[in-house]
Amino acid sequence: MALAASTTSTLLSRRDLRFLLHEWLGVERLSERPRYADQSAELYDDVLELAEQLASDKFAPHNRSADAAEPSIGADGRVVLVPEVKPAVQAFADAGLLGTTMPESVGGMGLPHVIGSAAFAWFQAANVGTSGYPFLTVGAANLLLANGSREQIETWVTPMVEGRFFGTMCLSETQAGSSLADITTRAEPQADGTYRLFGTKMWISGGDHELSENIVHLVLAKLPGGGAGVKGISLFIVPRFLVEEDGSLGARNDVVLAGLNHKMGYRGTVNTVLGFGEGTYQPGGQRGAVGYVVGEEHRGLTYMFHMMNEARVGVGLGATCLGYTGYLKALRYARERPQGRLLTARDPSSPQVPIIEHADVKRMLLAQKAYVEGALALVLYCGKLLDDEQSLEDEEARAKAHLLLDVLTPITKSWPSQWCLEANWLAIQVHGGYGYAREYDVEQHYRDNRLNPIHEGTHGIQGLDLLGRKVTMQGGAGLGLLAEAIGVTVKRATSAGGEAAVLGEQLGAALQLLLEVTAQAWGSGEVAPVLANATAYLEAAGHTVVAWLWLEQWLAADGKEGDFYDGKRQAARYFFRTELPKTGPQLDLLAHLDRTSLDMQDAWF
Ligand SMILES: Cc1cc2nc3c(=O)[nH]c(=O)nc-3n(C[C@H](O)[C@H](O)[C@H](O)COP(=O)(O)OP(=O)(O)OC[C@H]3O[C@@H](n4cnc5c(N)ncnc54)[C@H](O)[C@@H]3O)c2cc1C
Repeated sequence: MALAASTTSTLLSRRDLRFLLHEWLGVERLSERPRYADQSAELYDDVLELAEQLASDKFAPHNRSADAAEPSIGADGRVVLVPEVKPAVQAFADAGLLGTTMPESVGGMGLPHVIGSAAFAWFQAANVGTSGYPFLTVGAANLLLANGSREQIETWVTPMVEGRFFGTMCLSETQAGSSLADITTRAEPQADGTYRLFGTKMWISGGDHELSENIVHLVLAKLPGGGAGVKGISLFIVPRFLVEEDGSLGARNDVVLAGLNHKMGYRGTVNTVLGFGEGTYQPGGQRGAVGYVVGEEHRGLTYMFHMMNEARVGVGLGATCLGYTGYLKALRYARERPQGRLLTARDPSSPQVPIIEHADVKRMLLAQKAYVEGALALVLYCGKLLDDEQSLEDEEARAKAHLLLDVLTPITKSWPSQWCLEANWLAIQVHGGYGYAREYDVEQHYRDNRLNPIHEGTHGIQGLDLLGRKVTMQGGAGLGLLAEAIGVTVKRATSAGGEAAVLGEQLGAALQLLLEVTAQAWGSGEVAPVLANATAYLEAAGHTVVAWLWLEQWLAADGKEGDFYDGKRQAARYFFRTELPKTGPQLDLLAHLDRTSLDMQDAWF
């Protein structure tokens, strides 16, 4: 049987990307905006083609070996990675991809974020571990572009875009993960305007390696007199090597590798414990890691949220890509694996059928398709919102895009992390026993993806963020915008008539319930039982949003014929039939201010 075009690569579907970017989001119209005036759809397609090729040639081939040979510390104290990582990240940098969305002033290409995300998706699907290095570097560079001084941008961002310096984000400590208010790393101001940092950071991805000339750590630390809680936190640039005025590398800074964490998955990204100010190196003859404050003192967490928000959408993208590649591999396997006969085939000597013909296998594939294509729509939509925020002419429209992105961020982080992990679970199931064996990729995808509900704010923390902050901020304006956007789609579906109108009606009802329950819950004034059900709320809101984006895809496919569009419609049907109804019972918990978990006592376990 000839394979459909969408399965020619088992990383992502080029056809689906084209559909989402061109037929749905209409990226070619971005060049009508002054910011992208010199760009074209052809340019975007070229970048995506380059990304697919580089990801396939340089990243995918060592995905499995980097997992099998996890990072270690060599006899000389240096981090040892599989040898293919360095040329891969170098090729990424040489292609200019670190600066895909950055301004030309720092050597970037200035492309829209939606294109940057789609391009980066190929790398995350090919090798999420190696992609971690550029991911962190771009995040750190963007944070400095938004909040750093001109001199800081020149000193640190330009070499990052060139691929000479890599970046990290140093927030977590052993005793402070979700609760950053409890960090103890401290910074001491120096007479020359610099700072010296002391403390230990835990879980730092890309914290030490030999992939780049320098590593730029963005570190949260407390200054004396900053007050308790998050208000006392400031943000510092702490490089591995100090940089001289002419840009050359200077003294080794007092930040050292204290150890490695050994992980279930995502092993290609080295994960470190870093010691600051231990006195191993003494720049300027003095103990303490030299740091430079970003922006104003005591506003560190606000700045860090810039990187964290970007990283949260990026985590959603990574989770999507792992789910997507697992789905495509399961699809290929199901088409090739003969096993059993159809229930209607009575003759035991008749040939076995490929497992894709069994209804239960189709169910598992359809669920994966609905999750991963829904998630890809969600992350690309957020990329487009970021572009709207930065490039629309109208100030009010820009502010709206910002607010909508803000409300969608916890969903975009957590929904793919949960459901594309579920897709990986199903991909293993489709492979049967072979899926549990390391000869097949899907078990690694599952292990890699299991990180995503944990880092960048756990699943539970995203629920608290959505229900506790995002839907109430500015008097509920963010949620109002989301409702407005969904309402527009429902109206279009009603006008389209037929099945679209039926789906629109179901979505409208789900939205109405979400809005009512949100108002009712907060109207109760009972904070504890409301927030005790925040995760159920997050999941219900996530499903409502993804159902919306499935209806959007349905409308983009409306009236179009062929297998690809029929597949889109069937996946949308599946999502509405099987998944959307789950939101009812979830919201019911909140509607009744359910206290079952809240009232559970430690001693009763
Ligand atoms: C592989 C990996 C890479 C990482 N990379 C980085 C990095 O580069 N930089 C960095 O700074 N950090 C990094 N982290 C740290 C990561 O962000 C934290 O692990 C995460 O924020 C959770 O913190 P924790 O592990 O201390 O868990 P805890 O905060 O102890 O949470 C444990 C459990 O309790 C729940 N919980 C905690 N507080 C609350 C609350 N108030 N209400 C309800 N539930 C709560 C959580 O949801 C979770 O289920 C990484 C972690 C891993 C595993």
